[in-house]
Amino acid sequence: MYPQIITYLLTFIKFQEQMIRTLLTLLIGKSMFDKPKDQQPVNKPYRKLQVDDLPIIEIPEKLNYRNLLTEYQEKHGKSLKPVQRRKNAKVTVPKAMKCPKCGAPSDYLYANNGEKGQYQCKVCSCLFSDKNRFSKEAILKCPHCSKTLEKIKERKDFNVFKCKNDDCPYYQKKLNGMSSKEKKQFKKDPQSFKLRYIFRQFHIDFQPLSKNSQSCQWLICLESMLHRIH
Ligand SMILES: [Zn+2]
Ligand SMILES: [Zn+2]
Repeated sequence: MYPQIITYLLTFIKFQEQMIRTLLTLLIGKSMFDKPKDQQPVNKPYRKLQVDDLPIIEIPEKLNYRNLLTEYQEKHGKSLKPVQRRKNAKVTVPKAMKCPKCGAPSDYLYANNGEKGQYQCKVCSCLFSDKNRFSKEAILKCPHCSKTLEKIKERKDFNVFKCKNDDCPYYQKKLNGMSSKEKKQFKKDPQSFKLRYIFRQFHIDFQPLSKNSQSCQWLICLESMLHRIH
């Protein structure tokens, strides 16, 4: 008895399947169930996941605003006055902000084109913004050729730096290591190859967490972790 029922049900299911195919084909206008003919599987090599070395991080020699103020006094016979602000100025400089180059306090900082977040130090003339003040604290250099990396993209959460030196050993090695097939592909679609050293620098502001300026070290450490994840 049971095997008969199962056989009947299977036949019924097959019939239903046939109906569904027919109705779907009518609905869409072409058969959805034909196997595609002559379709070769796509054999496109994917870019291998690479983890690059960290860049050389050079902390430029810092100026000291106190020394600069003394020098100014000696040269001009008068002291350099803090920035005079209009009473109803729209843009204010945050009290905690310091010049990334000489450490001058906010009293000496102009809100240069304030709304866009650019500031200028009256003491050392350094131009900086809230976002790039860390990059003023450190210069990023290619670990392969020691040339300064160029910023090629600015994103909300990170900047992308690239070594554009044609003589960079990293670039030369990648370029010479390509097979002739890859070279042809490279001519067609250079974007699919990564030949130059690239580094992503994430904007994470540790300043509020750290009273002394160890924030830079934290940032570097975290960046290296994030860099490895991405
Ligand atoms: Zn300064
Ligand atoms: Zn390089």
